[in-house]
Amino acid sequence: MSTNRSRATVATAALRAAVAWSRRQEEPRAWREVARMTGVIMQARGPGVGPTTPADLVAALFRPLEKLLPEPAEPSELDTVVLLTGDGDLSDAAIEIACDYNQALFGPDADPAVEWLPRWAWQRSEQVERQLFMSLVQDGDQTAYTASRRFVVEQPAGDMRVLIDKRTSAATYAGARQVAEYVEIPKDRQFRFGSGAEEACWWRCPVCQWPMRVQPPEVRCSYAPHGSRFRLLSGSGGVAPELVRTSTSRTAVPEAQPVAGARCVEPAVWRFITVPGIPEVELERLEDQFPGTEVELWPVKDTFDALVTAPDGRRWTVDVKDHVDPRRIIDDPPAAQHIVVPKYRKGQVDQIRRQLPEKSVWTMNGFVRQVGDHIRGGEQQ
Ligand SMILES: [Zn+2]
Repeated sequence: MSTNRSRATVATAALRAAVAWSRRQEEPRAWREVARMTGVIMQARGPGVGPTTPADLVAALFRPLEKLLPEPAEPSELDTVVLLTGDGDLSDAAIEIACDYNQALFGPDADPAVEWLPRWAWQRSEQVERQLFMSLVQDGDQTAYTASRRFVVEQPAGDMRVLIDKRTSAATYAGARQVAEYVEIPKDRQFRFGSGAEEACWWRCPVCQWPMRVQPPEVRCSYAPHGSRFRLLSGSGGVAPELVRTSTSRTAVPEAQPVAGARCVEPAVWRFITVPGIPEVELERLEDQFPGTEVELWPVKDTFDALVTAPDGRRWTVDVKDHVDPRRIIDDPPAAQHIVVPKYRKGQVDQIRRQLPEKSVWTMNGFVRQVGDHIRGGEQQ
């Protein structure tokens, strides 16, 4: 097994064990999963290294992952990830970073844990994408595909009646079908300010709109690059408390939303479709900045994220890549000629350029500037 593959196997097994451990109170199958994952890690690491009992593995999940992983060829953010917090809850880094390394450990019929383990802990992003959109891709209906996908990216949570109303009547979602299931707001993203059925609230991340994690006194988006971190102001009895921002980001402070009637896409869909979709949709600002430019998102017959066409007919095929580890991009290069990373990943640009010299690699701002330069250059001729 190559180092990268065995690192991904160990990371997946550790993540699954951490999720199982965090649910051991309510899930009787959790212990067996921890034991199975101990076996997976022992096999991947070989004799004499790593945990030999489930208790050893659980202890390791409270420490940086580098203690479990084979040594990498180059430094990786995965090494510093700690999957369980001091009180045994799953850390934000588990869903922000670790799940980006998921690998299939078993065939789909040979994996009993898929019945209860959340999808984000064992599926790869490509699998989630395929399940959501396969029938729309097969239909080849571009309008329905783009509108349905845009809806999951832009409307991942809210009052269910409002969501249905938006999907069926807003012009920007015309043709959208319901591809994702909307579930109840997860318990760790709710705040109770009284014992009544109506006295529970949640807050949207101002960037991704999905419910933020509530760990009083802190409220924050589980995707750290969004920079959404707030503190609860103690509310007086019966009223939802307000938030104050504790991060340096300039986003608005969200208002409390009632839990009653609210729904959101499940974590796997948020993490693998909504989060990477935000910078993809951001490409559309080219249409506003440079009139006559067309941005076609997720062209269904092609395998890239966007096709940008300038007024003079010049075209750019674009893939937007939001991975913690640039290796994910380098080892599996996208089909598009232009690779664009969100601004919070600008540190990856040089490395990807070096390793993929046949591609053009940009930050979002760099790409927009480049398209602008071409259009202005064309006007001057
Ligand atoms: Zn967010």
